[in-house]
Amino acid sequence: MNKDKKKIFIIDTSAILSGKPLSFGNAELITTINIEQEIKPGGRDYLNYIYLKEKCLILKTPSKDSLKKIKETIEKTGDIDRLSIFDTEILAIAFDENKQKDVEVAILTDDYSIQNVATYLKIKFNSINQNGIIKKFKWISRCRGCGKKFKDNISICPICGSDTKKIVIKKEEIDE
Ligand SMILES: [Zn+2]
Repeated sequence: MNKDKKKIFIIDTSAILSGKPLSFGNAELITTINIEQEIKPGGRDYLNYIYLKEKCLILKTPSKDSLKKIKETIEKTGDIDRLSIFDTEILAIAFDENKQKDVEVAILTDDYSIQNVATYLKIKFNSINQNGIIKKFKWISRCRGCGKKFKDNISICPICGSDTKKIVIKKEEIDE
């Protein structure tokens, strides 16, 4: 039988802070519920985070067993001093998800310590910058009145005087 496996990506803070939109098709996108503590309201990082959360991001808490397993593992591999509590949670969530049958789990991260521990635990990972799933994008302002798009962050349209809205676009869609 040739069943399609459900894909699950676990993302770390660097994936969110990369400022790159992640395009996943039907895959599930999961991160730790505590990640919000690392991302301060306001600014582009926060917008990226909100965007992902509205689109598809699922927030989870790792199981105690998995957290314990990860803590033991990172002591063994020597990565313990290089991993934040969030990194540990990301790994533990990946470990939890990996226990399911008929799913394909991968951590999206550029962090070498996370990659190292993932390898040790036989969890797949993808590097963010080398992965083909990243699309180039940009936050721009779009006029709520006339619909004109602006590269710069402006709140009032200079053409018709309406308010603008922040939107995400692909780079080539900017009309100046
Ligand atoms: Zn306008």
